[in-house]
Amino acid sequence: MTAAVAIESVHKVYSNVHVVNDLSLTIEPGEVFGLLGPNGAGKSTTIRMLTTLTQPTQGEIVVAGYDVIRQPFGVKKQIGVVLQQTSVDMDLTVWENMEFHGRMHHIPKDRRKKEIIRWLEYVELLDRRDDLVKTLSGGMKRRLQIARALLHQPQILFLDEPTVGLDPQTRRRLWEIIKGLNQQGMTILLTTHYMEEVEYLCHRIGIMDSGKLIELGTLDELRQRHGEGLLMKQDGDRWDYHFFPTMQDASAYLEQQPDKTGMMIRPSNLEDIFVELTGRNLD
Ligand code: ADP
Repeated sequence: MTAAVAIESVHKVYSNVHVVNDLSLTIEPGEVFGLLGPNGAGKSTTIRMLTTLTQPTQGEIVVAGYDVIRQPFGVKKQIGVVLQQTSVDMDLTVWENMEFHGRMHHIPKDRRKKEIIRWLEYVELLDRRDDLVKTLSGGMKRRLQIARALLHQPQILFLDEPTVGLDPQTRRRLWEIIKGLNQQGMTILLTTHYMEEVEYLCHRIGIMDSGKLIELGTLDELRQRHGEGLLMKQDGDRWDYHFFPTMQDASAYLEQQPDKTGMMIRPSNLEDIFVELTGRNLD
C-alpha cells in the first residue's frame, strides 16, 4: 500500500538556520499520527512543507502519492488543512464560508450543497448556517474550519494544534469528531501539546526537537523503551525522575532505600518521556 505521507531526508533552512534537519518519516493510510515537540522544534514548518505552503530546501516529500514540489495541485486535492490561525472569514456566514471553499475547489453545485450539509451536520453547525462566523465561539470556529477542510473529500487531514485555547469540554467534543473521521478511514496528522490528546487519538507519536525527529513509536513502545516505572525523588523544590524497566523494578528499588522520604513511584507517562528527551514540559 502507498504510504499516506513519505518524508525522506528532508531539510528546511531559513537564512542559514536549520529549522528541519534530516527528517525521514512514513505515515500509513488510516493512521492518526501525533507530532510533538517544544516550541520552535520545527513542527509547523514540517506541516507547511507537507501541505505545499513552503518547499523543502532538500529531500523528498510525497503526500497521497503526489510529490509536494512537482505535483502541488495533486497534493492539495487530497489534503484538508486546519492551521493554528483561524482562517475562516469572520464577516461571512457559516454557509458562505463553506460555499466559498467549495467553489475554490470547483465542486459542482449539487454535490457542493450536499457536502456542505453533510459536513456542517457532522460538526453540529447546521443550525448556525446563516450566522456570521464572528458570532461563533472559539470551538465552533474550529469545528467550522474542520468541516471546511473536509468539503472536497480529502484523504489526509492535517491539524496544527487543533484544540489549543479551547476549554476541556470543547476539546473533548473535537476529539470525538477527529476520532470519528479516523474511524471513517481518514488519515490524520496532528501537532499538539496535550498529552491526553495524544493518548486518546494517536496511534503513533513522533517527537521533534531542534528540527530532528528524536523519538518515534506507539505510546506503549515509547514507555517500554524509556521505562514503564518511574521513581520521583524530591530534591528541595524540584523533583528528580528515575526510569525503571517495570513498576516492579521501581518498587524493588524503593523498598531497598533506608530513607524513603520524598520518594514515590508511579507508572511513567508521555509527559515524563517528553521531559526526559527535551528537558522541557509539554505545555
Ligand atoms: P514549532 O511549530 O515546532 O513551534 P516552527 O516550525 O514554527 O516550530 O519553527 C521552527 C523554527 O523555525 C523557529 O525557530 C522559527 O523561528 C523558525 N521559522 C519558522 N518560520 C520561519 C520563517 N518563515 N523564516 C525564518 N524562520 C522561521
